[in-house]
Amino acid sequence: MQNVEQFKDEFSFLSNFHPCCIKYNGVDWLSSEHLYQALKFDDPAIQNQIREHEFKGLKKFAHSISADFLKQEVFAGRNANGDIVLSRTWRIDVMKEVLTAKFIQHSDLLAKLRKIDGNITEGNHWHDNFFGACYCDKCRNEPKNNHLGKLLMFVRDNLFPEHEKLLIRKQEHSAITSFCEFLSGHKYRSIAKWNGLDLIGTCSDAEIASLIAEYFGIDIEIYHKENDHILQVMKRMNNGISDMEK
Ligand SMILES: [Zn+2]
Repeated sequence: MQNVEQFKDEFSFLSNFHPCCIKYNGVDWLSSEHLYQALKFDDPAIQNQIREHEFKGLKKFAHSISADFLKQEVFAGRNANGDIVLSRTWRIDVMKEVLTAKFIQHSDLLAKLRKIDGNITEGNHWHDNFFGACYCDKCRNEPKNNHLGKLLMFVRDNLFPEHEKLLIRKQEHSAITSFCEFLSGHKYRSIAKWNGLDLIGTCSDAEIASLIAEYFGIDIEIYHKENDHILQVMKRMNNGISDMEK
């Protein structure tokens, strides 16, 4: 069992600062950190400034932007020191979305993520116990939420496993698809249902689909849910379609 304690060396690809182009809202982002920071704001000009910012000082720059520009759902208030508090659910939901976009678009990274069979902890020394777990003395008694590690494990374990099963058996899968296409060219094709020697009917298309799913060991309900999820993510990656539907 391999546990990850820190996002460095061979595991640096897990870091949000790992350079990898992510298409989202129709534009390219340099990293998941760029995208995540930009999504805190509505103003396209601010989003663009973040998008074009170099890696160095990126977080600092994003944090320096006035809280007045934050999306309403991001801002959760201020603590006793007057520091801005961001919504926990927003941070987790949006980080999940960003990571999904990252790993859907980079199957090589998804394959590397899938190879990690143990726990993933974003160990750090900068006191981030929300997304990670700070190992410094001062944070010894702080609860370690490690949400980034948890989200990465979620993506690893839940990102379209049923589709993955089909991909692994791609050649067979394509053979069955082309066979079905061939059959559908024949007007009277059907798969008959028999009870002993009595013909009791024919299979509907849905029944045929569920037979194929059974053959491939696919859970068809989850498969359809994955399809919906993929569709939603693709819409958001490709600018505006979902906005037009509103
Ligand atoms: Zn600390």
